[in-house]
Amino acid sequence: MSQPKELREMRKILEAIDKNVNSKSWPCLYPGCQEVAINSHLLQRNSVLSTLVENGHLYELSTAGSFQLEPGRIREFKLTSAKKALSEPLFCNHHDHSVFLPIESNDSDWTAYVNQILFAYRSTCSELRKKQRAIETGRRRAQSNILSASWAQSRGPQTVEEMRMGIADLEHFKRDMEEDILSGTNHFEFVTCDFPILDVCASAVFTPVVNPIASMIPEEPVSTEFLNIIPTNGRLKVIVGHHKIHVDSPTLSHVHEWSKMDAEALEQKLTNLFASRLETWCLSPRLYRQIPKGKLTGILQFWNNPAHHHLYEEQVDFNLFR
Ligand SMILES: [Zn+2]
Repeated sequence: MSQPKELREMRKILEAIDKNVNSKSWPCLYPGCQEVAINSHLLQRNSVLSTLVENGHLYELSTAGSFQLEPGRIREFKLTSAKKALSEPLFCNHHDHSVFLPIESNDSDWTAYVNQILFAYRSTCSELRKKQRAIETGRRRAQSNILSASWAQSRGPQTVEEMRMGIADLEHFKRDMEEDILSGTNHFEFVTCDFPILDVCASAVFTPVVNPIASMIPEEPVSTEFLNIIPTNGRLKVIVGHHKIHVDSPTLSHVHEWSKMDAEALEQKLTNLFASRLETWCLSPRLYRQIPKGKLTGILQFWNNPAHHHLYEEQVDFNLFR
């Protein structure tokens, strides 16, 4: 059992490592580019995030660091500046601008494959970089004299191994997406759905139903859903898709569910996903104030429950929006 002084010392080092990893520079993820990445927004700051902000801020689910000393992942809703929300160091200034120019405008045709793939590409790169940053954090903890023993006993080393496998899958998807963007191939299939506006946005890459056995086969990328939820022009656009070959039937039915939902079913779906699957989503301060506190706490309880493995999308017994 650690003494309080030791624990304080450990926390200080953990914080220093997190700070250093956060300020580390990363290379641009665009193929062949060696430039330093700037802070890229997953969704357009001017045309999408701006619809949700109040005094330049909106709420997001804090990531609370990748590895905790104590069991359980402690999350909370954090008021974040639009400058920092839903962003990662992904691309250099040139590629962040030039590659995504077609989806910068509110008038873009989001049913066109060339645009759908750009949204999915940016979500995929973000998930990849998030994992690279978490592995870097783990590497530094393993090397620290004071932390290495507790690191070795924690779930950290196993999580890093899982993340490496996740990265291999994401790199596979990323290469196929780059071929689509550069050569006009179509490795993926997307649907764009249109709903009444809700004050939320999300950009995520996830597996709707995790099959623990399939996840252990290194050559085969795990079945993955690519999802972007975009409030724009007074409507909520959902762009959702999957790889044409590396996809299982639970993912296929999950992807095709979106186009069959009415407004209330959408709200329930989003509530379920926000509680159990999507880490990268935001809501407006206006909506945050409207939601009863008990429901917000309910979402956090799902995330903070250490017994919760998130193999399946949780069916939450409340609707965040009404
Ligand atoms: Zn670049």
